[in-house]
Amino acid sequence: MTQSGRVFILLGAPGAGKGTQAQRIAETYNLFHIDTGHCLRSEIASGSELGKQAKSYMDQGQLVPFELVMQVIKASLLRIPQDKQGVLFDGFPRNQQQAYGLDQVLEELQIRIQAVLYLDISHSVLMDRLAYRVTCSRCDAKYNLKLNPPKQDAICDACGGELIIRPDDRPEVIENRLKTYASETEPLIRHYEERSLLRRIDANQPIDQVFEEIRHQISPFFHSSDTMLV
Ligand code: AMP
Repeated sequence: MTQSGRVFILLGAPGAGKGTQAQRIAETYNLFHIDTGHCLRSEIASGSELGKQAKSYMDQGQLVPFELVMQVIKASLLRIPQDKQGVLFDGFPRNQQQAYGLDQVLEELQIRIQAVLYLDISHSVLMDRLAYRVTCSRCDAKYNLKLNPPKQDAICDACGGELIIRPDDRPEVIENRLKTYASETEPLIRHYEERSLLRRIDANQPIDQVFEEIRHQISPFFHSSDTMLV
């Protein structure tokens, strides 16, 4: 990625559909997708020191400490392939401290945030989505047994991995994650609104319609020669 690279942020509650939309956005616009939850789960799976430190926070539905998250972010930014047109952050930043941390890192790289896509979803739709969520234990793809089921029971369409209920998708942890979201992450809506970066997307709609709204918001940032699909 060059200094003309674009930075987009996906903001929204757990279960709002960030992961599903992020995959489509990243493919369509050739963006490097950085999903901090996925990075942290990979650290845990690899048995790294960082993973060990992050695990207890994640199991309880709390935010992983700032220093650990910034380590993940900096390592991810170093891995961006040259041909990417920019970065899509998914699940980061998640509080004010991380938002300022991101600003600092981007300033060093001399790149700017183009837009923050806020997936706005009602509480009842959210609960339905989280209740039926399964995740691939190998590639982290998400499915919803009611709304977006896999073709074969308990098997990931994308990689054939086993689908599981994530430990932090258990009802008692979900409640904590939603509380953490409300107290730590929700204030970022205002923060980015004040900077005129916020784009509100109605995330209560079916997946394809949500993506259409996102396309409508993102496409103006790309010239027709940059991507074949917009
Ligand atoms: P997610 O896959 O985005 O739902 O994230 C799963 C868990 O990983 C969260 O509940 C947090 O414990 C941790 N996590 C992910 N991203 C962050 C972040 N930006 N800051 C702190 N903790 C995070």
